[in-house]
Amino acid sequence: MYNDNPTLDKLKQLDEQKQGEVFELSEADFYDPNYKYFYIESYGCQMNFSDSEIVASILAESGYRPTRQMELSDLILINTCSIREKAEETVRKRLRVFDKVKRNKPGTMVGVLGCMAERLKKKWLEEEKLVDLVVGPDAYRDLPNLLNEVEGGDKGINVILSREETYADISPLRLDSNGVSAFISIMRGCDNMCSFCVVPFTRGRERSRNAFSILAEANDLFERGYREVTLLGQNVDSYKWENPESGESVNFAMLLEMVAKVDPDLRVRFSTSHPKDITDEVLHKMAAYENICKYIHLPVQSGNSRILELMNRTYDRQWYLERIDAIYRIIPDCAVSSDIIAGFCSETEEEHQDTLSMIPLANYSMSYMFFYSERPGTLAARKYPDDIPTEVKKRRLQEIIDIQTQVSFKHNQADIGKVFKVLIEGDSRKSTDDFKGRNSQNKMIVFPKQSPYKTGDYVQVRVTDATSATLIGELVS
Ligand code: SF4
Repeated sequence: MYNDNPTLDKLKQLDEQKQGEVFELSEADFYDPNYKYFYIESYGCQMNFSDSEIVASILAESGYRPTRQMELSDLILINTCSIREKAEETVRKRLRVFDKVKRNKPGTMVGVLGCMAERLKKKWLEEEKLVDLVVGPDAYRDLPNLLNEVEGGDKGINVILSREETYADISPLRLDSNGVSAFISIMRGCDNMCSFCVVPFTRGRERSRNAFSILAEANDLFERGYREVTLLGQNVDSYKWENPESGESVNFAMLLEMVAKVDPDLRVRFSTSHPKDITDEVLHKMAAYENICKYIHLPVQSGNSRILELMNRTYDRQWYLERIDAIYRIIPDCAVSSDIIAGFCSETEEEHQDTLSMIPLANYSMSYMFFYSERPGTLAARKYPDDIPTEVKKRRLQEIIDIQTQVSFKHNQADIGKVFKVLIEGDSRKSTDDFKGRNSQNKMIVFPKQSPYKTGDYVQVRVTDATSATLIGELVS
């Protein structure tokens, strides 16, 4: 649902008026041929979804309107992810669908954005005839010019990476928003060179956004009724902005405090942290402000120090566990989640066991778990043979998933009987009689609705049951 869309606001008003007639209006009813429309699909990390809102804002400035109906659009965009082979396969499958639409509606422009645009560059135009536009993550400002070139009969491509671009002055157009939670990108790129990762090649060098533009965006969102912001970066702990006027610098702990002070009713989350850079200063800020959520996503990738060295993660098992100890010491009720890769180059069974043992030791509430997918151009692809057979990778991944599911179940079972402050995000997926919302620990809780409560309200919920993925509860106030 595209929120900042005048057509849809009108759609909603009329919808409400006609509710009695159980009459569903579609966007086609409000299609205005005097306007150009764009349709965008986003894949991959939160950063990509946040970028799509920047793209939407730039296009809206150029007179485009967003639509959810591909067939109505003049411009079809896909914001791509390149993190694993599977992600790229998904993109190619979607292009086949776009191809059909373009055949039925000649003149429709098709554009590829994001990390796969950056990784393959002009190869797109050579390999995929339907693609008119290829735009990398740092070149979205150039979209209006590139669209003019395509409308002039050429192809449009800009994949130049920048050392400055943060889109700080562009107010994102919120897409698919529940009106309660929003992403705020605080930095772009990454200076870490994890050997398995394409991000430094597809998103460029690290640069931090002006702290005051981040604050202004948080204030604006709060005034517009949002009650939660997630500060986004590949490695938020290395956020560092030098104020050109005062010369003072703002680090991540200071930025967290600045955003937390917007209003006690504005929840603050952030992602992604890096074990080598997360400081006690950040942990103490989290402990000091009730509205900074007690949840940290701290990718470990592997539990074994030799593999961590091959991955160029710049910390070892012991360092990681010391960070985990510091988190639970300074914020006892904090929940931690992680990213784990199974079957990295030359990983032995013993080293795999180190990863398995890390999960209960760190007591992760949940993890994103994948088997190693070699990415072209990365350090690992150039230096290490991808020598773990796929069936071994899959078996190891399954063992990781099984242990994590047990640990998540125990983690959630331990919450039964506790009362949490929950921000209502909307109806539960399974039943419109239930609300869903998350506690500070980023756990989803489902509970029966009760008036006068509505989406965007904070309520107290007692946990009455739990699965490995969800908490079930009842309202206590
Ligand atoms: S920290 Fe490592 S894994 Fe994360 S984006 Fe940077 S290079 Fe990739």
